[in-house]
Amino acid sequence: MAEVRISARDLGQVLLDNFCERCFWLTKKFPLGQNHPFASPMPGIVSQADTYIKRVVNTHLQKTGSLPSWLTNALNGSFSGLNFQSVRHVNPAKWQIRLFDAPCVLAGEADAIWEFPDGRWFIADYKMASLTQTQERLLPLYRAQLNAYAFLAQKLQRKTVVGLALIYFEPEHNAQTIADPALLLRTKEQLMLGFKCTVVPVDLQSPEWVEDLCRQVFSILSSATPPTGKQGCQGCQVLSDWLKSIGKHLP
Ligand code: SF4
Repeated sequence: MAEVRISARDLGQVLLDNFCERCFWLTKKFPLGQNHPFASPMPGIVSQADTYIKRVVNTHLQKTGSLPSWLTNALNGSFSGLNFQSVRHVNPAKWQIRLFDAPCVLAGEADAIWEFPDGRWFIADYKMASLTQTQERLLPLYRAQLNAYAFLAQKLQRKTVVGLALIYFEPEHNAQTIADPALLLRTKEQLMLGFKCTVVPVDLQSPEWVEDLCRQVFSILSSATPPTGKQGCQGCQVLSDWLKSIGKHLP
């Protein structure tokens, strides 16, 4: 059987309201990449800002020995039992682990890992987005992603993870809501863009919870043929009719 590689980012797809096993199977077996007419690649500026945020936070932590105060304040407001004043930066690695004595691999790389003086870890994922209803609908996906990192940290690094968070960075795009002095600060020496930082705590789940999700995903992706589609969804029927009309058919 071919290896099934599960990305931490995809693990929680099965938890989404509109999840379709068939769609998932097809998109994982036949990834389209970005070179097709319907592609909507992530705008370059989003991934650049993502890299920039990581660099700003890591550099501040490594050079000054503490997280930026705006981040410490946001974290303290959500995690009253943890002290973020004296954390250490841990270089995130590309983790992967084989599961179930089967050709099943869970892989992932966290955005940020901080270590408390007692050796316990905190893991965060940065989101360059506004915390909208769409983002809230995606929370199950992100919960699985962060818990997959905690699982990998525990299994591969023997580390206890004590907290998980999504950290949203929303660009100050609506100039009307920013006070004039703040706007003037943004153009003091060069044009700058501010971000509003919002911390969303994510519940820590058990390793069994993560393994159970991996088992579900493995069961779908290890199938040689695509699973049945969602009842009432017309998309497959339209595609199947069209393929038939040109002398082909879906498995
Ligand atoms: S078109 Fe509908 S039923 Fe078919 S794979 Fe996509 S979501 Fe599933």
